[in-house]
Amino acid sequence: MGRRSIDVEALCAGNRTALARAITLIESSRPQDRQDARDLLTGLPERTALRIGLSGTPGVGKSTFIEAFGLMLVAAGHRVAVLAVDPSSARSGGSILGDKTRMEQLSRAPEAFIRPSPSQSALGGVARRTREAIRLCEAAGHDIVLVETVGVGQSETMVADMTDLFVLLLAPGGGDELQGVKRGIMEIADLILVNKADGDLRATAVRTVADYAGALRLLRKRPHDPEGWPRAMPVSALDNSGLEEAWQAMQDLADWRRETGILAETRRKQAVQWMEREIEQGLRTRLNADSQVRALLSDLRVSVANGDIPAEAAADMALDRFLSAPVAPQTPDAP
Ligand code: GDP
Repeated sequence: MGRRSIDVEALCAGNRTALARAITLIESSRPQDRQDARDLLTGLPERTALRIGLSGTPGVGKSTFIEAFGLMLVAAGHRVAVLAVDPSSARSGGSILGDKTRMEQLSRAPEAFIRPSPSQSALGGVARRTREAIRLCEAAGHDIVLVETVGVGQSETMVADMTDLFVLLLAPGGGDELQGVKRGIMEIADLILVNKADGDLRATAVRTVADYAGALRLLRKRPHDPEGWPRAMPVSALDNSGLEEAWQAMQDLADWRRETGILAETRRKQAVQWMEREIEQGLRTRLNADSQVRALLSDLRVSVANGDIPAEAAADMALDRFLSAPVAPQTPDAP
C-alpha cells in the first residue's frame, strides 16, 4: 500500500469522510503511516473542544444516553464527536463501544461523528490513538468530544487523563460494589448521573442519587472545585429527562474551571504526562524491535523466573544491550 493521502482542507472544513480517513491513518502502526500521522497532527489548526469522559458498566445505558444527549447537543447547534476506549477490544479484537449501530440516529446526524474503539494490542496503544483522534475531531470543528469507556479502572483513568470533565453513569439501586464500579472511578468522577430514572425505577433512582451525593461528600473534598462538586443527578436517557440539567451542570463546572485557569492548567499537566507516557511506550517499542534484545529478554525471563538473576540486574542487562546498539524506529515491522 502506498501513502494514505489525507485531505486536510476537507478535514478542517468538517468533512466526515476526511476525518474518518485521518483517524484510520493515526490508528495504523505502519512506520510510514506513523510518520504521516505525526506530520498531519503537527500541521493542524489550533482548535479546541470541551472534552468529556463518560464511563459506565455494560447495560447502564451509555449508548442510549449518548444518543439522546448527542442529539440534544446537535439540536442546540453543537457539533459532537464520540470516541470510544474499549479495553475488551484490545483483547478480543471486537468492540462493544462506539459501535454505530448502537447510536443510529446520532450517527445519521451530519453534525455528529462516531468512531468505535480501535483494536490495538494494548490499552496504551488505544489510549494514544484516542488522544490523537480527539485532536483530529477538534480540527474538524467538533466543539464537544465525548470519550466513552467501559472498564475496570485503568481505561477510566486514561480517559480522565485526556478529558476536561469525567461523567460516571450509574444504574438505580445498589452500592458501587454491586454496580461493579471501582472506588478509583468514583474518585475521578466529576458528575454522577443515575440513569433510568423513569417509570418504576424513578423513586429508586432518586434514592440512589441521594446515596451517592452523600458518599461523594464523604469521599473527598476537592480544593479546586466550587462548593457542591462533585455532584450526582438523576437522568433518563429513554424519556430524555434530566439531560438539559446534566448539560447545564457540565457547562457550569467547565466554565468555572476555565475562568479560574484550572482547565488550562489541567491540560498543560495532561500534555506533559502524555509526553512521558509516549517516551516510555516508545522506548518499549524500540526495545521490542531489536532482535538481539528480544532474544536476550526471552533468556532473561527464564533466568529471572528461576531466581538465577535478580530482576533489577536482568533489566539493566537488557537496557545495556539495547543502549549499546539502539535500533532506529523505522526499521521494525516494515511491510
Ligand atoms: P450500554 O451497554 O451502557 O451502552 O447500555 P445501552 O444503552 O445499550 O442500554 C442497555 C439497556 O438499558 C437497553 O435495553 C436500554 O433500552 C435500557 N436503557 C437505557 N437507558 C434507559 C433509561 O433511561 N431508562 C430505562 N428504563 N431503560 C434504559
